[in-house]
Amino acid sequence: MNVDDETLKNLSQRCGEYSLRCGREDQLKYQSVDLFPEDIDLVTVNLQKNDIEKRKNYPIYRSLISRRQRNRFLFTHMLSPTHNQPSPEDRISTPDAILQVALYKPSKRIGNNITRTLSNDSASLENVYAILGQQKLTELRDRIRCVNDVLVTGDYSDNPDLNISLCAWDVFKSGTFFIENVFYDDTRQPDNLKYSKEIVEWAAKSGIEYQCKTMETTKFNELTVRIGCPYLYLHQGNCEHLLVFSDIRMVHPHDNLNINEYPCVIQRSNKRRTICRVCAYASARWRTVESEHALNSTSFFCDACFRSLHYDKDGKKLGNFKAYKYFDEHTVL
Ligand SMILES: [Zn+2]
Ligand SMILES: [Zn+2]
Repeated sequence: MNVDDETLKNLSQRCGEYSLRCGREDQLKYQSVDLFPEDIDLVTVNLQKNDIEKRKNYPIYRSLISRRQRNRFLFTHMLSPTHNQPSPEDRISTPDAILQVALYKPSKRIGNNITRTLSNDSASLENVYAILGQQKLTELRDRIRCVNDVLVTGDYSDNPDLNISLCAWDVFKSGTFFIENVFYDDTRQPDNLKYSKEIVEWAAKSGIEYQCKTMETTKFNELTVRIGCPYLYLHQGNCEHLLVFSDIRMVHPHDNLNINEYPCVIQRSNKRRTICRVCAYASARWRTVESEHALNSTSFFCDACFRSLHYDKDGKKLGNFKAYKYFDEHTVL
């Protein structure tokens, strides 16, 4: 710039950002409540003032707020391009759109009152998926893994070694999406139930008309959706998940253009395990009910602790309790 050092120093002193400060701003350094002007009647300013006062005076409020405002996501990775270019048959046919679909964890209360659940902030995010407009609804459904899909039901206390490889997903394959007053039923298996059937009949009695379509014949680019509007994914009879389209944009050259990479998980929620109540280290594999060896009527144990507490050296059951295989969603999914 052909400016000598002396001039540069003068300029930086006169034009630096601190030259814009006035009054007591230098001393307060944006840390004190006193900085809020007294004569301003803005709701946002008053809320901030109240919040800071409450954080100072009420430790329970302070810890509650800091817990709620903690970053809930373990990692976020955006759609990254692969270094290897996909073969022509695997390449996304452009133009196409990428949709981001946020799936929330199942909640008992969601079925009762979606609006209340959302306003209470109790619907917690499970995963965010990226899917292409040219893909079918069933492709997203097959990518979704809910802990209720991998459950094996029944009391195993008499024979904990009994190995049943069938899980709920293998037996109960019905499922439906409910998007903009249209049910999309999964009818790929002939014995699948149409969850929409009874709801549509019930609503028709009140003069409300819902449409029904099939999931396997509908592509995402045929849907009419609203960003941020809560929709429903229903499976395993009554496992209800909120589903929200959080973003839609066109595919660009920097995206991963391999169609086999979609749908993919682009964001996961923070995962916390259920740990064994004895060793407090290993993940829980068993849930016991009414066990006299546990302090609570329902307790969780890892495999080693469960067996050493509840069976003798010959494998004989000690006491009268029920034992269920426990699937911690954060360790099995
Ligand atoms: Zn589910
Ligand atoms: Zn243990």
